[in-house]
Amino acid sequence: EVKNSGKTMIVSYSDYQVQLKNDYQKELELIQGIENQEFILHYQPKVYADSGRFYGVEGLIRWQVTGEDRLRYPDEFIPLSEKTGHILELTKQLVEMSVKQIKCWLTKGYEVPISVNVSAEHFQEDELVALIEELLKKYQIPPYLLELEITETVLMEDVTESKNILWRLHRLGVHLSVDDFGTGYSSLRYLMEFPIQSLKIDRSFTEAMNIDKKVFIVTETIIQLAQKLDLQIIVEGVETKEQLATLNHMGNFLIQGYYFSKPIPYDEIEETWLKK
Ligand code: C2E
Ligand code: CA
Ligand code: CA
Ligand code: CA
Repeated sequence: EVKNSGKTMIVSYSDYQVQLKNDYQKELELIQGIENQEFILHYQPKVYADSGRFYGVEGLIRWQVTGEDRLRYPDEFIPLSEKTGHILELTKQLVEMSVKQIKCWLTKGYEVPISVNVSAEHFQEDELVALIEELLKKYQIPPYLLELEITETVLMEDVTESKNILWRLHRLGVHLSVDDFGTGYSSLRYLMEFPIQSLKIDRSFTEAMNIDKKVFIVTETIIQLAQKLDLQIIVEGVETKEQLATLNHMGNFLIQGYYFSKPIPYDEIEETWLKK
């Protein structure tokens, strides 16, 4: 009887209520994961297009849920973390993790810039600047080894506030990158007012560059423009020899993609890329 009434209750949930319940459960899992520090970073190398020489890495979040043997990927939990605001706490852990990793590699004699992705939520509050200032002091690393990747959409949401925060970060000496460049509707004029050091050209360009002549032209033009503005360029999502060859004709800059390496744990970075 009790079982039955329980069942009736569940089927009478509207889809909306079921969704809410799922989200709530997922949020609890997330909170627990943050408390238990179940999040780790994998690192994807950025290398010079011409020589394949190592430059540094991007840190990409993975969730190692206790008792689960597969890793969870950002698409599965970053949107909810952003929606619920838990991304703030999560980013704090990740930035500290990155700073520690920079420090650890320095003590082993490797100077490795690490970039971390920063969500829009951090541009609506003050904590990020204070946190980074504190971490730089605590770990005593050269600030330029810490790089922050911010998507252009985030920067364009509130240009005045973004500019303010970026300048404060810039004064701390950290390296600032515009992520997924070319996918949003950024104004180049605004972009010039931001104290940024690099542009990451989105994977959608790399994918289409050898198929669509217009994409090829736009990619080449963005690269030339960025080089004239003395911006560092990173082309994302390079998977094939053909893509690499095309890019090599456009100049020498940084490349990130499966052609060279997927994101891998720190010890594999050491084995494969640092001990040479
Ligand atoms: P993103 O910042 O654009 O990161 C690049 C994504 O492209 C990564 O996926 C990476 O594994 C993937 N990728 C790299 N090279 C290739 C390639 O050659 N081919 C293909 N098909 N994919 C490639 P990942 O790690 O699943 O991350 C997805 C997105 O999740 C990231 O896109 C970023 O927006 C977000 N994300 C990842 N880590 C963090 C984090 O720590 N904080 C925040 N806020 N967002 C993160
Ligand atoms: Ca990124
Ligand atoms: Ca990107
Ligand atoms: Ca992307």
